[in-house]
Amino acid sequence: MTTISPVIAIHGGAGTISAAALSQDAARGYHEALHAIVQATQKLLLRGGTAVDAVCLAVEMLEDCPLFNAGHGAVFTHDETHELDAAVMDGIDLRAGAIAGVSRIRRPVRAARAVMEDGAHVLLAGAGAEAFARERGLQLVDPSYFSTEARRAQLHRVRDAGRVTLDHDGAALAAAAAEAPLDEDRKMGTVGAVALDVRGHLAAATSTGGMTNKRVGRIGDSPLIGAGTYADDRTAAVSCTGSGEIFIRAAAAYDVCARMRYAGQSLAQASEAVVMQTLPAIAGEGGSGGLIAVDREGHLSLCFNTEGMYRGHARGAEAPFTAIHR
Ligand code: ASP
Repeated sequence: MTTISPVIAIHGGAGTISAAALSQDAARGYHEALHAIVQATQKLLLRGGTAVDAVCLAVEMLEDCPLFNAGHGAVFTHDETHELDAAVMDGIDLRAGAIAGVSRIRRPVRAARAVMEDGAHVLLAGAGAEAFARERGLQLVDPSYFSTEARRAQLHRVRDAGRVTLDHDGAALAAAAAEAPLDEDRKMGTVGAVALDVRGHLAAATSTGGMTNKRVGRIGDSPLIGAGTYADDRTAAVSCTGSGEIFIRAAAAYDVCARMRYAGQSLAQASEAVVMQTLPAIAGEGGSGGLIAVDREGHLSLCFNTEGMYRGHARGAEAPFTAIHR
């Protein structure tokens, strides 16, 4: 019997390079976090763990890490609250689960998985999703758990400055920006993971705080199956990050799989076409973002039309690779 070499890939959002792009300390923190998460998930896959277990573990670790916009460290809405979205999909049988607009579930991806395993529904939102999570014994927290001062300052900059760009701001702003290699105000911070397990099955998961300064009630692409998240053993597993509205209109994650299935495109061709052509064609720069994807043969695509995307991956027992900029 030939064993399949498992593959894991993760992302922590796409965005533009900040003035502080050269801050090596900041970059190191991101690399270390990405490396640790890829390594933990790689171990799980090498022990024979399923693709669903792997993507959920990776996303959960990304949610717990304040550097990324999901779980603890999620961005704020316009009203200075948090509304989190997450989804998971199993490529074996297209089972999927998602939650949207929640502010008390500590690890949103666990709730998405519980929705998938329950099987009655695919997407639960708001208070109903939180009640479901409580019933399932998932940990609920005060919404302040998700807040970090860096995110609050980010909301105030974006909300109050409006037309003022980062470059025109004063020293305080530059100091805040120096903490992250991608411009935090313009970074799409969603996190996600895709995996191929030793049995040849695929899965994808995505989790996010959404966009800074978003209107309360707004739901992005991440929890929408086919838009920000998709997995199908016949083609690929895909997790997106970017301007959610455009990814929804393009059915971006599904489009990658559809191009492979119906047009015979390779994973690379399909994901390049969606990220480099379809999304910008709808909205120019408004279509900015990227995606990570793995296909049934273990090919990987980590593709973005922004200047950078926090990302990492590992194949088999190879050393994890992490990167931020191109
Ligand atoms: N796609 C996410 C959303 O629109 C944002 C992101 O990727 O950072 O909610």
